Amino acid sequence: MSEERIVYMFDEVDPSKFKTTSELKEFFGGKGAGLANMTSLGLPIPYGFVIPCKHSLHYAEHHEMPSALKDQVKESIAKLEKKSGYVFGDINKPLLLSVRSGAPVSMPGMMDTVLNLGMSKAIAEKMAESNERFAWDSWRRFIMSYSDIVKETGREPYDEIMEDYKEKKGKKLDIELSAAEMKELGDLYLIEYKKLLSTEFPEDPWVQLFGAINAVFVSWDSERAVAYRKMNKIPNYGTAVNVMRMVFGNLNDDSGTGVLFTRSPMDGEKKIMGEFLINAQGEDVVAGVRTPMSMDDLQKERPEIVEEIFGLANKLEDHYKDMQDCEFTVENKKLFFLQTRVGKRTASAAVKIAIDMMDEQYIDEKTAVLRVAPEKIEELLHKRISPTERKSPIVKGFNASPGAVFGKAVFDCGRAIEMKKAGEKVILVRKETKPEDFPGMIASIGILTSRGGKTCHAAVVARGIGLPAIVGAGDLEIDEEAGIAKVSGEVVFKEGSIISIDGLAGNVYVGEVDVVDPEITAEFQRYLELCDKYRKLGVRTNADTPQMASDAIKNGAEGIGLCRTERMFNAEERLPKVVDMIVAESLEEREKALNVLLPLQKGDFKGIFKTMNGKPVTVRLLDPPLHEFLPDYKTMLIEFTELRVKGDHGDRFKELEFMIRKYEELKEENAMLGHRGVRLGNTNPEIYKMQARALIEALIESQNDGIDVHLEIMLPLVSHVNEFTRLVSILKPLASEIMASANFTPKNTIKWGTMIEIPRAALTSNEIAKHAEFFSFGTNDLTQMTYGFSRDDVESKFLMKYIDEIEPPIMKDNPFEHLDPNGVGKLVAISVKDGRSTRPNLKVGVCGETGGDPDSILLYHKYGLNYVSCSPFRVPVARVAAAHAAILDEQGKL
Ligand code: PEP
Ligand code: MG
Repeated sequence: MSEERIVYMFDEVDPSKFKTTSELKEFFGGKGAGLANMTSLGLPIPYGFVIPCKHSLHYAEHHEMPSALKDQVKESIAKLEKKSGYVFGDINKPLLLSVRSGAPVSMPGMMDTVLNLGMSKAIAEKMAESNERFAWDSWRRFIMSYSDIVKETGREPYDEIMEDYKEKKGKKLDIELSAAEMKELGDLYLIEYKKLLSTEFPEDPWVQLFGAINAVFVSWDSERAVAYRKMNKIPNYGTAVNVMRMVFGNLNDDSGTGVLFTRSPMDGEKKIMGEFLINAQGEDVVAGVRTPMSMDDLQKERPEIVEEIFGLANKLEDHYKDMQDCEFTVENKKLFFLQTRVGKRTASAAVKIAIDMMDEQYIDEKTAVLRVAPEKIEELLHKRISPTERKSPIVKGFNASPGAVFGKAVFDCGRAIEMKKAGEKVILVRKETKPEDFPGMIASIGILTSRGGKTCHAAVVARGIGLPAIVGAGDLEIDEEAGIAKVSGEVVFKEGSIISIDGLAGNVYVGEVDVVDPEITAEFQRYLELCDKYRKLGVRTNADTPQMASDAIKNGAEGIGLCRTERMFNAEERLPKVVDMIVAESLEEREKALNVLLPLQKGDFKGIFKTMNGKPVTVRLLDPPLHEFLPDYKTMLIEFTELRVKGDHGDRFKELEFMIRKYEELKEENAMLGHRGVRLGNTNPEIYKMQARALIEALIESQNDGIDVHLEIMLPLVSHVNEFTRLVSILKPLASEIMASANFTPKNTIKWGTMIEIPRAALTSNEIAKHAEFFSFGTNDLTQMTYGFSRDDVESKFLMKYIDEIEPPIMKDNPFEHLDPNGVGKLVAISVKDGRSTRPNLKVGVCGETGGDPDSILLYHKYGLNYVSCSPFRVPVARVAAAHAAILDEQGKL
């Protein structure tokens, strides 16, 4: 039996053997697939080999390398030697390598790279004969990166040595250091290495190479990689290892290194954008330590090289039919591409690129829809700083990721996590960020750094996760240890101070700024309309006021899926009137109080009907338990006790005595499972009767005013069909009577339906559908009752621990946020099917929190719902998610 092939030279991979780029990437990782593709497209890349992802999983399981790996790596090095003419470990013609990880899904900054591998001091000495400074610079970099990545010491001890050394020599920039100084630094680094690790630096290139491969395998399961995967729901693919011949951007001034995007990742403009550092290696660009020059500036200085770079970049974009993010190096005027991958982008860039590429006939409409992730849409809906805000920014940086936020400044990642746990909103302020800062970054609502450019770690990560960020605010002097930030020597803010950042403009403010809600641009509108063309699910909104309704319409809502009438009762001036209704001691008294509420509710409904003219409006009759509207029990009790102690038995004492008694009468141990919804409706029909009257009178007056009302009346919390039929038998004749006495015929039939939010209702929906004309799933209560999770308590008590803290996690997702396909999802599916078995044209929607969640929307499409309903702000997200669902379904990928 022939031995399994573990190592592939780049030109031994045949991309055409894989059905899709994703399959190629899953096997060889993103970088490996990119390198193989670039090889087959004839792009100049440094030769090398790739170890497929599955071997890192083998390593994770067995804690050792696959047995044939070493031999095959040795054979591959021999091939590399033969092709390049360099020899591994040779003093005269040393083959130097880069070793990089490469997961199937790009995980920016998460995995590690070792450069200049294969060097020894003797090799450096020899290389120094022809290019002294370059040789010693490469040597000291290698010691640092090997120690940092392979031996996990971090690079700080070496950075400190560098900083101290430069200070001693009176120099500011690394580039000002002479060859002899670089050599001396190398010696200092070797001493530091021994001090940190109690062993000599390994000079044997094979020890170095296998050490580095090992480190790549280990890094797949590092804390930050695991956190990133968890947050982005990336499966446990494993990572590939890419080993390539080093090409040197730091050879001389005819060398350099750069990164580019084939279109702007900020706004999608069709223009190659990039940054280039002369006489530098890749890590210098990404780390953002030195400020690079733009492609435009490079074009002025080296037009021929820019022309070549652009030509190859365009070739790549043309091949992939998507915006590419490439790394390249120029070694002594010769250009090499080191990496290409689909570029991360802001949501507005994603939308523009999708629409432009469709117009350019690169991609079809459906591909254009799928190019923008529904979750990303939220970024476009981010708040911005109000145009009327007069506050002046204290400093400006690069606008790395959009969104305006204010929060407490925090200078340390650990503190950011702590403060988030304590419920604070924090903005992480750092000189720069490194991959290990990731957990602190995701605990923050915004990122601010004083160093770096638009492609530095902080910028790439923040854009990827949609976190507002400003990087490279160079005028800010950040002292992370002391937790202070200064401008021109003056302290401007400290840890805990409120600051604001505007990631769209790059402005930093002290204090809180006025932020406004975003608008939908013409471009975004076109994309959303394209989504509307393909989606099958309707999108409605949950709105209780005309303002919310009109916001939702602007965002494309096609109707109201849930108007919670109790929210109309909550207005401050109304509450006393509601209380009168609740505490009434007789039916007569209650009806009197209800009559006071009637015109108010009617007015509300008229406002909503007017805004929703022509669109369906589902109004839910009162749902929560009554005692929720009464004043706080504890506060009443304290005041009552104080009065009693004082011997004050006046009016207030009597009032409190009465209210406390009423509260105790109404109070329930499990109020959420108690006397609410149709249960209250059945025992006290006068309340629903008032609401039905208000609705019908509003309908009559609105229609008479020329408004087209499509009214759907929803009865909440049905568990037994009789709860529904009894109430409809009371309310429907009442509605008819009111209309008859006004000599009124509604233009559109009034529909009577229910919310399915109790498991029993879901299981008996064939019965309920005989009487109910529509269903809407209330997944908040349905989740509460299916899991037996108190929706008001579990998140703060244990649910987040189940998801984020306990290892391995007990649950992957919060079922109140993402529909659980094995629990509530099953009930929904059964209920839709059974309901339609009785009433084939039964209209079914969902209005719980999951109604606006993209993952859940995929399932709702699958279960055949008619519409989803969500908060006004999430309506565009739902439109996009629904289009994704329809297209994926059509492609058999749902
Ligand atoms: C639900 O239970 O999902 C629902 C939408 O109703 P509420 O949140 O008002 O209980
Ligand atoms: Mg509910």
